[in-house]
Amino acid sequence: GGLPRFANFPPSDFTIEAERAAYPEAIARVRGVMGKEVPLFINGQEVRTGDHLDSYNPADPSEIIGSVCQAGVAEADDAIAAASEAYLSWRDVPAEERAEVLLKAARYLKDNIHDLSAMQILEVGKQWDQAQADVAEAIDFLEYYAREMIRLGNPRRMGRAPGEMSQLFYQGKGVAAVIAPWNFPLAISVGMVSAAIVSGCPVVYKPAGISSCVGYGLVEMWKAAGLPDGVFNYIPGRGSVIGDHIVEHPDVSVIAFTGSMEVGLRIQEKAARVQPGQQQCKRVIAEMGGKNATIIDDDADLDEAVLGVLYAAFGFQGQKCSACSRVIVLDAVYDRFVERLTEAARSVKLGPSENPANYMGPVVDKAARENVLRYVKIAEEEGNVLVKREVSDDLKATGGCYVPLTIVDGITREHRIAREEVFGPVLAVMRAKDMNDAIDIANSTRFALTGAIYSRSPANLELAYKQFRVGNLYLNKPSVGALVERHAFGGFKMSGVGSKSGGPDYLLQFLDPRLVCENT
Ligand code: NAD
Repeated sequence: GGLPRFANFPPSDFTIEAERAAYPEAIARVRGVMGKEVPLFINGQEVRTGDHLDSYNPADPSEIIGSVCQAGVAEADDAIAAASEAYLSWRDVPAEERAEVLLKAARYLKDNIHDLSAMQILEVGKQWDQAQADVAEAIDFLEYYAREMIRLGNPRRMGRAPGEMSQLFYQGKGVAAVIAPWNFPLAISVGMVSAAIVSGCPVVYKPAGISSCVGYGLVEMWKAAGLPDGVFNYIPGRGSVIGDHIVEHPDVSVIAFTGSMEVGLRIQEKAARVQPGQQQCKRVIAEMGGKNATIIDDDADLDEAVLGVLYAAFGFQGQKCSACSRVIVLDAVYDRFVERLTEAARSVKLGPSENPANYMGPVVDKAARENVLRYVKIAEEEGNVLVKREVSDDLKATGGCYVPLTIVDGITREHRIAREEVFGPVLAVMRAKDMNDAIDIANSTRFALTGAIYSRSPANLELAYKQFRVGNLYLNKPSVGALVERHAFGGFKMSGVGSKSGGPDYLLQFLDPRLVCENT
């Protein structure tokens, strides 16, 4: 093939003056055009509705990013009808041509990476590097899935029996409903959507309400890539109004969901029940939450471990499914590690993510702030507070959605703060007597998404490899920042069903295999 081997899009290099200058310029540019009505996009047409939801800047809720038209049941039905119609031709477009559209979409993202990053900085409060990494991951998904579909696109001869020619090949399953979270607002959306589209499945895409303006970026991207009408439909809308309806619709064949365990379990239950007129069994891909642990061995490099845990726990305010929310420390190194971690956590700067001097910014919206504050209280009741960075009066005066960075210890596996996903900057420190105990604690939740261990002991790294049972385990690295292909991503147990995104099995979930055998 003519395509170069897949490689990850590089992170920003902020030592380059032009790269540093690009961000304030892009933020100003996006500010200049934002705040407008955002339409739906169905069958190649903009559609406006009377119901709007304002998306705001979490660092300053008076700043409106967009007034987003909300789809109701009628618009969801229109989008599914358009996708069903488009399916009849899109499924038979050769795999290479479908892949070509993804490569054009990747080109569009590369050409607009600063403005797309700026939109995330303003709409969900990502730091510059976090926003850039999200756009880079979106590019990676497009480049990777394009190559994967080309790989899978050629019919495969099965067996060598004389007198017969038997071939196995794939076709797209049908209409895919993509239901996305807000925390990786471009990357996860583009990943799920592009996997469906390249597999031959037209999409109805429902972004999370909080990140619908970033989600609108997919409309512009597919337009630029020349995708035929009806293959991609954008229907922001309230989960409570159209969520169940889309999931239960008889013409939806695949549901690709990423989000909380509660919603993921509900979707699996609803999708299992066959509706009148339904012609196929629905396939559900559900990537859900985590309660991820990092283990600190008694011989760990503490410089690395402290920085790694700090970043994994508080990067993007702890709002990553892969975030570290439990740090399990071996008794022999406990006091030394905890002292250095708390010292580091007391020194980081808090404030708007727009300013790159700030390590931690606001959580994503007012509801998230309330939720995190509830968990801070639970953490204070259950444990012993090591760090609570109260929100300063200056920050309070901005009205931004700030919460205290919080670390507690004295936590054991029975505590709620050791079991429930907070999705915010709250870290529980737990003491283990030895490595077996640490791994046992790490495995004690119903989630199995990510994990990390800092150790210099080959035997303990080997033990973790075998016994620390999570979807993505990192040895002497933070548990966050998964890259497409190199760190194909996803968990099991209550962290999800489905094969790893950005990995070699992912597209198969959108495909039905067919076999044709000819008597020759
Ligand atoms: P969420 O579950 O609240 O919402 C996700 C999406 O589901 C949104 O688009 C929402 O509108 C929609 N929804 C709500 N009710 C629905 C219903 N009844 N039917 C259908 N859809 C409905 O999650 P969130 O707050 O957007 O994201 C945070 C969660 O996502 C965390 O739990 C995090 O761990 C998880 N997450 C997991 C991964 C992963 O790869 N495993 C990645 C990112 C985020």
